Amino acid sequence: MTAADLQHPPTNIAGMHRAALTDALASAFDLDAKKARMRAAQIWRWVYHAGATDFDAMTNIGKEMRAELSKRFTIARPEMVERQISTDGTRKYLLRMAPGIEAECVFIPDVGRAGALCVSSQVGCTLNCPFCHTGSQNLVRNLTAAEIVGQVLAVKDDLEEWPSDAEERRLSNIVFMGMGEPLYNLDNVATAIDVISDGEGVSLSRRRITVSTSGIVPEMRRLGEETSAMLAISLHATSDDLRNELVPINRKYSIAELLDACRNYPGVSNARRITFEYVMLKGVNDTDAEARELVRLLKGIPAKINLIPFNPWPGAPYECSDWDRIEAFADIVNRAGYASPIRTPRGRDILAACGQLKSSSVKKRASAIRREANL
Ligand code: SAH
Ligand code: SF4
Repeated sequence: MTAADLQHPPTNIAGMHRAALTDALASAFDLDAKKARMRAAQIWRWVYHAGATDFDAMTNIGKEMRAELSKRFTIARPEMVERQISTDGTRKYLLRMAPGIEAECVFIPDVGRAGALCVSSQVGCTLNCPFCHTGSQNLVRNLTAAEIVGQVLAVKDDLEEWPSDAEERRLSNIVFMGMGEPLYNLDNVATAIDVISDGEGVSLSRRRITVSTSGIVPEMRRLGEETSAMLAISLHATSDDLRNELVPINRKYSIAELLDACRNYPGVSNARRITFEYVMLKGVNDTDAEARELVRLLKGIPAKINLIPFNPWPGAPYECSDWDRIEAFADIVNRAGYASPIRTPRGRDILAACGQLKSSSVKKRASAIRREANL
């Protein structure tokens, strides 16, 4: 590489928003707005519909233009550091976004319409829910929109799901339930959702994209307005006292405020219900009285209830409720009209289940990251 190349290393367009791609092309080739939009549309289809990783594959673009494009741009994926496959078919990926920045994502077959990809929005988390493995890792940083989209592209490569509208596709749903709190990175999450829901690209419907939050009340309306995504709430307790302990952000936004924001979530209706997640912790939040209180609290909110058997991790200070207890709890919830409320744990053998994700990335000084990047 020459010094000039280092000043202008090729820009990665994989994961870019359509507007950013249009701007990048306009400035690289001095195009007017209309030409730039047309060129972007052409490239967009190759990248997000066909899964191209090389400009040479773009047969409807002239050869000279392709050569120019490859001088200035790349179509790169996050580096796959590790892939583990569970006995139940769940796949866990450790992806390296940049030096020292690693995040996990998990593909779970046979959920949603076909299969769901659980993506991360941050490396680590600023919140410290004591039952969550990610919560024991400090926040390293937010993932960029491109890095969130990069998870989807890398997994589609692995599943060989190109072109994106192939029949029988296995990846049909996206859940933001990996590492991090998506509503503390909402701008990037919203941009990523724009990209993956674009009908001329990856084309995953917004109704099949679910964002899970621990309850960042002031951001919930914007999530609904900007993304039209489905909402999931990590409730986990029916009293403020207990929720203050299990989901410490509750000290800032109480259960009453949270449920109020749910009632006012844009687009909420019986056809677009909010999922309430409730982790089953032995002797902590799993009595019949709490099941009844849960049903009472959710009255009037179009809701689904998801009971999540606690997934253990090394050193976790909780145990999963006994199976009879979970069933007794589920029975009460069921009788109140909520169907099949227990979420079967998936990928536990490879620590890929809810709340088991954690990367070895640690927070470093920016100077150390820059140093590594230049190696
Ligand atoms: N930060 C967001 C999204 C990521 S967590 C949130 O908290 O909602 C995805 C879901 O897994 C949340 O409901 C979370 O509370 C739950 N979870 C975390 N640790 C878990 C564990 N060890 N066992 C089962 N569920 C867990
Ligand atoms: Fe963060 Fe969600 Fe884990 Fe709580 S449950 S620590 S909000 S990732």
